[in-house]
Amino acid sequence: MNELEHEIHSLVEQLASYQKAYYVDNRPLVSDLEYDRLFDRLVALETQYPHLKLADSPTQRVGSDLDSALVEVAHTIPVLSLDKAYSDGEMLSWIEKTELKIGEEVGIVIEEKIDGISIVLYYEDGLLKRAVTRGNGMVGNDVTANVKTIASIPLRLPVKESLAVRGEIYLPKETFAKLNAQMEVPFANPRNLAAGTIRRIKSSEVAKVPLQIFVYEGFWKEVVHTDHLQILSTLASYGFRLNPNLGYFAKDASQARQALMDAQLSGFGGSFSDLASYIQDHTQKRASLGYEIDGLVAKVNSLSGREMLGYTGHHPRWAMAYKFESPQAQTVVQAIDVQV
Ligand code: NAD
Repeated sequence: MNELEHEIHSLVEQLASYQKAYYVDNRPLVSDLEYDRLFDRLVALETQYPHLKLADSPTQRVGSDLDSALVEVAHTIPVLSLDKAYSDGEMLSWIEKTELKIGEEVGIVIEEKIDGISIVLYYEDGLLKRAVTRGNGMVGNDVTANVKTIASIPLRLPVKESLAVRGEIYLPKETFAKLNAQMEVPFANPRNLAAGTIRRIKSSEVAKVPLQIFVYEGFWKEVVHTDHLQILSTLASYGFRLNPNLGYFAKDASQARQALMDAQLSGFGGSFSDLASYIQDHTQKRASLGYEIDGLVAKVNSLSGREMLGYTGHHPRWAMAYKFESPQAQTVVQAIDVQV
């Protein structure tokens, strides 16, 4: 094995062990920034030397949080990770490329990226039948009884429709601080405590932890909607809890504001030239929020556009995460430190 192959093998092994600690044990061994640094290094090597890419590379699939103690259920929708960017320039260039691929103007919805546990709520004829963790993206764990303890999740919808709703279960910062102070082995952050809680065997214990949810995607069996704003609007009307910190961006700001009004959603409507300041404002606002976010998520609004773009094995091509913390920025800081 040459040096390059050795580095790729060791990155794959290292990331796999960090994934297990983070997703399954809820006790991360390294910071998210360090994990992202190694992940990005592997992506860079695989892009430069595609013939050296390993079949089991973590860049090719989502990090699995499957727990063998719980029942496994197959997902009927793709439940993947997100591609990521670290600057507004990268976000704008992704929007431009997306527009070129679709061949028409795009509208982009920006949501907060909640740092919690991904969950899929499956409703049949208006009733909550199953709540399933992300798992490996194709199969997840059935945690229905535990999820039913979260009061803000509707057990029955006002309509007898069958749909899958994606959301993020999280623990508010204040609650985390109180609960964690009583733990023998404290958790590193609210995400880890929430993840450990949702996979507990006893629902009565889960009920003692005031978990919360924000939902952000809905998938119907039949075509009912044409865009994401309509979907969010419908989910709100069915009683789901939506994050009010929403942005919608289009070529023209008035067009964006009108689209939000048409969907009866509150949020910031702007043109793409407002995107950089929106990201900057949000970066500052982050600390004052009552819950953890680790970035923003940009999503193509039109569902036909999404269909055209499709998915890789790891992420949808119609969405892009903007991460607040950049491993490159850290590297630069370290380099400067060394020079000083
Ligand atoms: P991701 O960063 O790729 O983001 C995808 C997830 O974001 C989705 O599955 C969804 O659950 C969530 N999300 C929150 N709000 C959303 C919204 N509004 N719309 C859509 N999705 C939303 O997450 P991932 O694939 O779970 O993991 C990758 C990240 O996790 C890494 O970049 C790293 O920061 C962290 N991680 C850390 C370690 C560690 O050891 N510290 C290990 C593994 C992963």
